[in-house]
Amino acid sequence: MAGFDNLEGYIWIDGQFYDWKDAKVHFLTHGLHYASAVFEGIRSYAGSAFKLTQHNERLIKSAEIMDMKVPYSVEELNEVTYQVLEKNNLEDSYIRPLVWRGSEMMAISNQNATVHVGIAAWGGIKYSAKSAEGGIKLKKVSWRRPDPKTAPVHAKASGLYMISTLSKHEAERAGCEDALMLDYQGNVAEASGANIFFFKGGELHTPTPHCFLNGITRQTAIEIAEGMGIKVNVRTIKPEELPDMDECFITGTAAEITPVEQIEEIKYGVGENTRKIVEAYHDLVHQPAPEKLAREAA
Ligand code: PMP
Repeated sequence: MAGFDNLEGYIWIDGQFYDWKDAKVHFLTHGLHYASAVFEGIRSYAGSAFKLTQHNERLIKSAEIMDMKVPYSVEELNEVTYQVLEKNNLEDSYIRPLVWRGSEMMAISNQNATVHVGIAAWGGIKYSAKSAEGGIKLKKVSWRRPDPKTAPVHAKASGLYMISTLSKHEAERAGCEDALMLDYQGNVAEASGANIFFFKGGELHTPTPHCFLNGITRQTAIEIAEGMGIKVNVRTIKPEELPDMDECFITGTAAEITPVEQIEEIKYGVGENTRKIVEAYHDLVHQPAPEKLAREAA
């Protein structure tokens, strides 16, 4: 299978563009062995990167939590992102910035390591072929989101994705598109790479993001809902409540707003309230981004 290392285009690393196939790191890279890496997932729509500043702020914050100082400002990262889009002729794309520790030491401690930054982008992304037609199915998986005292849960840290990968594998093996993950206390947390919401009696309910990412799409969905006059309840949600919910959807940069048709044996279908949020999100992401407008005006 031709992989992502085999596409055509240009990838920006540490201040310079490389031909796609030459964008490599050394085998003895700390980020690879000890997961000292953080990343972002950003989407561009018609050449506008959605919430770019928020994503780059989170990238720098994630790195800081992981004891790494990103050697670029948010504004510099924004500018490079647009250069990556232009150099690769991308309009609708997925953008992947990564920050990682270099190879100065092959040991757990690597305090004086260089911090590297790369940005790649590619087109043709779909979270799930099914999400275009209707809802997806979630499986309640065995892995849980960890205690904030156990892991740097507010960093978009590569190391945390081992739980997501194992969870998504478990869900897919059971014929589902994604995982419903509980947290370390057994409450509803999120999907493998997206936050979760429920409609009940016309109000929204979503778990408090105390041990997982407070997603940028999650925050956008809350703003959209509140703008429509929908009450949003951010609270602890117990798995026992799931059968009483009316509708469900997940939110994430890649997933966008994806309706959830079913969790285990509980069937929600795709409801009217969810459809309205999906449409409003679609309209919002297709508006020209402020960073792009400012860049064009300069
Ligand atoms: N949770 C996890 C585990 C994720 O990987 C993501 C995707 N970044 C999200 C939530 C949603 O975050 P966002 O809306 O910022 O993409």
